[in-house]
Amino acid sequence: MKKDNEKKPKKLLKVLLNLILIIVLLILIAMTAWYIYKTETSKDKEKNTLSYTQLINEIVNKNVEKIEMTVGSTTLKVKLKNEEEEKKAIIPNTQVFMELVQQQTLENNEINLEQKSQSILMQIPSYIISFLPTIIMLALFIMIFKMQGLGEKGQVYDDTERKTKVTFDDIAGLDEEKEELKEIVEFLKRPKKFTEMGAKIPKGVLLYGKPGTGKTLIAKAIAGEANVPFISMSGSEFIEMFAGLGASRVRKLFEKARKLSPCIVFIDEIDAIGSRRTSNSGAETENNQTLNQLLVEMDGFSSEETIIVLAATNRPEMLDKALLRPGRFDRQITIPAPDMKGREEILKIHSKDKKLSQDVSLKNIAEDTAGFTGAELANILNEAAIIATKKEHMAITNEDLDEAVKKVTVGLEKTSRKISEKDKKLTAYHEAGHAIVSQFLPTQTAVKEVSIIPRGMAGGYTMYKSDEDKYYISKTEMEEKLIALLGGRAAERLILNDISTGASNDIEVATKIAKDMVTTYGMSDIIGPISLKDNEGQLEYQMFGDDMQDAIGKEVKKLIDIAYMNAQEILKQNIETLHAIATELIAKEKINEEEFNKFFRD
Ligand code: ATP
Repeated sequence: MKKDNEKKPKKLLKVLLNLILIIVLLILIAMTAWYIYKTETSKDKEKNTLSYTQLINEIVNKNVEKIEMTVGSTTLKVKLKNEEEEKKAIIPNTQVFMELVQQQTLENNEINLEQKSQSILMQIPSYIISFLPTIIMLALFIMIFKMQGLGEKGQVYDDTERKTKVTFDDIAGLDEEKEELKEIVEFLKRPKKFTEMGAKIPKGVLLYGKPGTGKTLIAKAIAGEANVPFISMSGSEFIEMFAGLGASRVRKLFEKARKLSPCIVFIDEIDAIGSRRTSNSGAETENNQTLNQLLVEMDGFSSEETIIVLAATNRPEMLDKALLRPGRFDRQITIPAPDMKGREEILKIHSKDKKLSQDVSLKNIAEDTAGFTGAELANILNEAAIIATKKEHMAITNEDLDEAVKKVTVGLEKTSRKISEKDKKLTAYHEAGHAIVSQFLPTQTAVKEVSIIPRGMAGGYTMYKSDEDKYYISKTEMEEKLIALLGGRAAERLILNDISTGASNDIEVATKIAKDMVTTYGMSDIIGPISLKDNEGQLEYQMFGDDMQDAIGKEVKKLIDIAYMNAQEILKQNIETLHAIATELIAKEKINEEEFNKFFRD
């Protein structure tokens, strides 16, 4: 009841502001219409108007019979002796004109001068015109005021004041993480149990993980399990065009949290406000103010107020160290991409509401999707359902799922695109090059499909079987990855004696891997195990002198050169197979694992 009463005056104010705005707008429209009408009619009446010189001439020539003037107005009605219709005349100065007319009137006693006082109604438009700038300013102020008001109240107050029904059962995998977070649920459910023992309830938990790993889902599930309100806001929503608004939003957010305590406050993309503070001006200062306010609020609430702030980021290295101090976000939990078991469980959860055919194996999909996040897996199932509907299948089949995986990873198949014979040949040799080279590299996974049908941005593609989940990648594996990536370019050079733009993405990926090997993983013998990147991932070699810059460049180039040479070597030794596979690709456009392996058995 209390909340409803509090909302009423706010609603009334909102309605009132809207009304004022509408009135101001209507006045402005009316003024514009009136102005247009006036200029139009004045054009019509031009013929019926006397200029000041003409009027004086008519008076001097004694042609004027009657003049009617309104007090305060410079427009006169003039009746000439030889004309039926009255004319209009505008005079620059009333006083000078009066003297002239009176003199004429006295001398000749011929002009009938009539003076009228102006009606109030007639004066309104001119008053409005003089107040127009003030009205416009007022309208602008109201608009700005409204926007600020919305900014401060909008999302925080209306959108998030509800309990969530998500529970830990809706989260697949992440068993250890859930276990760790159950403690937070306990704090929220029974805070007294902990405080009586003298324990301090943690204020903040930071969730690290790449986009789509389920950070928001976990935060909601904690609130759902503890049955407490879930208030959420994204870091980017704090950053607004009005200086100081971010800080005021943080204040409002916590004001609300205090009222709803015990509760969960979830700040997504905290890096948007929580990145390292600087002393720069402008947007940075606004950012700093917002972050300072967040720190003040977190330091401010006492242990009786059971508010737990959960924040999510995928760029932990950007965060200001002050956020991580005890009493703030002192608990940090990494949310990894799911492993194979996790992926299968996520697929199970998201297939509950979908029609799957009997033979569908979610385990196979889980095996093929190493590195995929929960959000991507959910997306695959949704895409598969769309594909199945389009193909008018009774239920989602294994092929629909396979197609969905390819659509999500490489893009949509573009069968209708016309490709020249020359491009077809180039793509066929390029893809066959990748596939054959990988076949001879022990650390690389087996080829699953080779195609020269364009998909997404790619002219063709070689799909490999998914890797098992791994935590480390060895130097040999990275070197062999470089060879596989350059297999396409090597085949072009070898067979067509020319190279194309088709390898640009391979080259980009290979160069990045080579750079990381040298500067991040210390895999160059010449440079040694030194990290050459600062906390923000920028190259930082200055402290080692200019020689280091040369050495980095040379080492990266050496890795790429060796890989390119090895790729060409493998292809030279298997040139027959290369021709055979490329020819088959040109004929069939796509070959699967079975068909590919046949070339090596033979
Ligand atoms: P972002 O960093 O982009 O905000 P996020 O890590 O917060 O991403 P969520 O928004 O929580 O990710 O996840 C997106 C969707 O992915 C969820 O709504 C859910 O459908 C699915 N999802 C992600 N992880 C899981 C999981 N472990 N179990 C079940 N579903 C999941």
